[in-house]
Amino acid sequence: MTGNHWGYGKDDGPTIWHKNFPVAEGTRQSPIDIDPHQASHDPNLGPIVLNYDHCTSINISNNGHSVVVEFDDSDDRSVIQGGPLDNPYRLKQFHFHWGGKGCHGSEHTVEGQSYASELHLVHWNAVKYKSFGEAASSPDGLAVLGIFLDTGDDHRWLHMITDALYMVKFKSSVTDFKRFNPKCLLPSSLHYWTYPGSLTTPPLHESVTWIVLKEPITVSEKQLGKFRMLLFTGEEEDQRMRMENNFRPPQPLKGRKVRSSN
Ligand SMILES: [Zn+2]
Repeated sequence: MTGNHWGYGKDDGPTIWHKNFPVAEGTRQSPIDIDPHQASHDPNLGPIVLNYDHCTSINISNNGHSVVVEFDDSDDRSVIQGGPLDNPYRLKQFHFHWGGKGCHGSEHTVEGQSYASELHLVHWNAVKYKSFGEAASSPDGLAVLGIFLDTGDDHRWLHMITDALYMVKFKSSVTDFKRFNPKCLLPSSLHYWTYPGSLTTPPLHESVTWIVLKEPITVSEKQLGKFRMLLFTGEEEDQRMRMENNFRPPQPLKGRKVRSSN
C-alpha cells in the first residue's frame, strides 16, 4: 500500500487502513454492531425531519470505492434536522455499500446480522462550519443517515439509480443526474438508532453523528446485481476489478452508548 491509497482488497482493505490512517483504531469508529437490547430509549430524542422537497441532485459518479450521487449544498434546500441534531445539516451526497452475489454487504449490523446493502446520506453542519471539508474533520461536523437494504421484491424507485449505473461503470466516470429526490428511497418509518461515530472510509474522521434507520427498504437481488457491474478500476487499467464487498466490518464500541428514538 503506497501513499494514501486504500481499497477493500487483501492488500489495501479495512484491516490495514490503520497503517496510513491511525485513527482507524480510535475511540469512536464506525460502523458498529447495534444491539437493540443494549440501546437505551431516550425520551428527549425527537423525530428526524428530512426536508428534501427541492431536488438538488447534480451528478452521479464512480469514485473507485462506491457510486455517489452529489447534491448542490450551497444553501439549505435539502437538509436533515431534529433527532440528536442541534441544527439543520445539509445534504452533500449519498452512496451505497454492498456485498458480492449472495453475500452480506451492510456496514452496520443488528444483533450480528448483516443486510445485503447499506445506503448512506451524508450531511454537514453548515451552521457551524464554512465548508464540507472543515465539517468532515470536526466532532459535530457530519450527520449520516444510514438505511439498510434487504432483498426481496423490486424497489419501485431504485431503478432511477440502477438505470444510470452503466454510465459510471469505470472509476472516475461521472455523468449528470439532476432532479433526483432521495425521499423515494426512505422506508415508511423513520425510527432510528443514534450514536457518535466516524466516516467508514479513509480518512475515517471521528466527525459523524450516525442516525441508522431501524426499518430496511426492500430491493431485489437483480437490482443489487446492477451495482456489481460497476468496477473499482479505471477504463485505462488492464485488470478489471468488480466493485463489490465495499464495506468495513463493525468496530469496537469502546464504551459508547447507542440511543433509540422509540
Ligand atoms: Zn458510506
